[in-house]
Amino acid sequence: KSTIRLDKMLGNLGYGTRSGIKSLVRQGAVSVNGLMAKDPGMQIDPQADTVVLDGETIRYRDTVYVMLHKPAGVVSATEDKRDRTVLDLIDDEDITVFVPFPVGRLDKDTEGLLLLTNDGKLSHELLSPRKHVPKTYRALVAGQVAEADVKAFAKGVTLDDEYVTLPAQLSVLEVVAGGAEPTQPSMIYAFSRAADIPEDAANLSWIELVIHEGKFHQVKRMFEAVGKKVLYLRRESMGPLHLDESLAPGQWRELAEDELESLR
Ligand code: URA
Repeated sequence: KSTIRLDKMLGNLGYGTRSGIKSLVRQGAVSVNGLMAKDPGMQIDPQADTVVLDGETIRYRDTVYVMLHKPAGVVSATEDKRDRTVLDLIDDEDITVFVPFPVGRLDKDTEGLLLLTNDGKLSHELLSPRKHVPKTYRALVAGQVAEADVKAFAKGVTLDDEYVTLPAQLSVLEVVAGGAEPTQPSMIYAFSRAADIPEDAANLSWIELVIHEGKFHQVKRMFEAVGKKVLYLRRESMGPLHLDESLAPGQWRELAEDELESLR
């Protein structure tokens, strides 16, 4: 739905209470697209309709920027026949009225930072293959990620479709022997979230990877290219934007002014 009630819109902008706004409308102080508004509950499309109050054109903001901690199990789309979408998690009509869309995609089972906006220009810039905006991921990987993998990722690995990846920075944060308990809190969390940790895995590695492009299933396919399987994946950052640690999976908030500035 891309409309909002006139009284709600004016209320959100601080022009008074619902009843105060109702009387403004009754007095004929508000016009919509050049016609005097009669119904305070009329539906306004803030991106298309012009609202004038006492001769002053009301500028409703026209862009929204949301940081979502995407949980596993929802798809990075605005609509889906079968699955819940990331937009279903944004339970605020003042935001959804602007129909934000996800900037890039995370797999259904991937967690972490997802930006949603209706700002097509910013989205395009962040996703442009020419801009190489870095994206940082943490992953739980079956097996021992070793120096040879770090070197291979730094050079570029060949994916299953023959694409050679750009240089990527891989670091190993912790390796635990199969059956042993991890010590890093973020790895403990990954253990609890990983779908199926193979019983026979000799080692499990908790890694951080920075990539500068965004091919389909890129992180998982890069590890496949070196014979390893990603068991759990989350995105920590995209360019200057970092996942807010205080957001639990499924939670979201609007970007702060300084975060938005850093993206521009
Ligand atoms: N790489 C993947 O394999 N999956 C994601 O969701 C993001 C990056």
